Amino acid sequence: MPNDRYDITMSTLELAANTVGIEKFGVTSAEPFHTLVPFLESYYEEGRDTGFEHPMSDFRWNPRAYFTEAKSIIAVAVPYQTKQSQAMQHPSGRTGVVSRYAWGQDYHVVMKAQLEQLSMKLAALLGEPVKVLACVDTTPLVDRAIALRAGIGWIGKNGMLITKEYGSYVFLGALLVDKNIEPALTPSVPIDDCGECNLCLQACPTGALLDQGRLDGKKCLSGITQIKGMIPEEYRTKLGRRIWGCDTCQTVCPKNRHTLVSMREEFEPDPALGFPDLKALLHLGGRQFKRLYGHTAAAWRGHQVIRRNAIIALANAGDTEAVPDLLPLLNDPRSEIRGFVAWALHRLAPEDTRELVYVAWKKESDELAKKEMAWSLES
Ligand code: SF4
Ligand code: SF4
Repeated sequence: MPNDRYDITMSTLELAANTVGIEKFGVTSAEPFHTLVPFLESYYEEGRDTGFEHPMSDFRWNPRAYFTEAKSIIAVAVPYQTKQSQAMQHPSGRTGVVSRYAWGQDYHVVMKAQLEQLSMKLAALLGEPVKVLACVDTTPLVDRAIALRAGIGWIGKNGMLITKEYGSYVFLGALLVDKNIEPALTPSVPIDDCGECNLCLQACPTGALLDQGRLDGKKCLSGITQIKGMIPEEYRTKLGRRIWGCDTCQTVCPKNRHTLVSMREEFEPDPALGFPDLKALLHLGGRQFKRLYGHTAAAWRGHQVIRRNAIIALANAGDTEAVPDLLPLLNDPRSEIRGFVAWALHRLAPEDTRELVYVAWKKESDELAKKEMAWSLES
């Protein structure tokens, strides 16, 4: 209910959030995030962006540039590591690894529905319309900066928003609201709780983590698994058996130990999707991919990216038994598949496959794929 200073009191927000089952939330004003500007500017100027982000503009740091009526922001963190996913270990052998955020249902869908429920509940409690804009990775605004200012957690040296209760295994979202909302009275969260720990920086396979939680997005394997086409040589072996995302800087983090688990059924993992059979992925068609992965957050780049990553993972696993499955893919309609198969065969069985790769090289018309096959010319 309103009081003299606020349109929505904290107790009203708590009632609404609890009713719709939101585990963790905070409130901040819709004032611009001025301190973010130099960080964003250097991110783009130094060329550390992945190419997936929105271009630099005031839409990135000013909520009102995006939604003029915004007065407050409700920041939400939804935990996704369930008891079952916590216990899941990557089996040895020819299985790939999908990042744990994509083991259950796509959080974009889950969280958007919940933010809509929250806005409806607020409107019902107030007895008047509430104008909102839900952000679940869907606007140029920076969700971590919103969550930080709303007191949900702090930013670790791995660049992740870390909560006290659930560590960094949380999805972040925000609801921009055209009402003044009373801020919480909870004590502020420490800005930096990493102390002397540097485990994430030491564990990152590519050196993508810089100082002060800054990231070189171009070096980050999580983004690299999602780019289309060719992957630069220097990152291929570093990918290991990752076929979607990278969790290394989170799995080593001590703040992710002894945390509470998510009770959400939507995020219960499917082990076959979390650690998929790599050979089966080679033959994955678009329709089958949609059926298997369409409901997860690993689906948005399509099946060819996953097939390519599976080829790289098989080579990195040293799986020579995959050679008979790889050879026919020298004739795949996709040039990057042909190219990466040639690269994988060079690593797995160069002597046995040189002649067939040479035949493929002779008829290859794509310059990049042909380059990957050129090893077959060596005597
Ligand atoms: S996600 Fe992986 S590659 Fe990216 S910063 Fe973390 S450890 Fe490094
Ligand atoms: S691994 Fe250590 S340094 Fe990195 S975020 Fe976690 S606590 Fe901080």
